[in-house]
Amino acid sequence: MTKKTINSAEIEYVATLTNVYGGEYVSLTEQEVAEYKRDPDGFAAKHFGLTRDEYQEWIECGGEAKCGAKTKAGKLCGNTLKGGSQLSAEEWKARHRSEYCSTHGGE
Ligand SMILES: [Zn+2]
Repeated sequence: MTKKTINSAEIEYVATLTNVYGGEYVSLTEQEVAEYKRDPDGFAAKHFGLTRDEYQEWIECGGEAKCGAKTKAGKLCGNTLKGGSQLSAEEWKARHRSEYCSTHGGE
């Protein structure tokens, strides 16, 4: 987090939140600064509209939405959905493990 002095009266707080494209600069209010300091990951998850676990998975997958089917061995299919790369948090959440790859009857 960086603290920028705009002029003598105003101070702006900027946090870098990790997303699947690298990072995103977000201006914080003083109240948000306290929230962010207490729990950076929780704050980021909330910012992107995800739960903490979803946020972690979204970052780990690099924003790739995976197929929702299971293989014969009972494991989750590792295929990425068509057009399912580097998705925004919102789109990733909507598609990840809820659509199927071409092998499993999806598009
Ligand atoms: Zn699949």
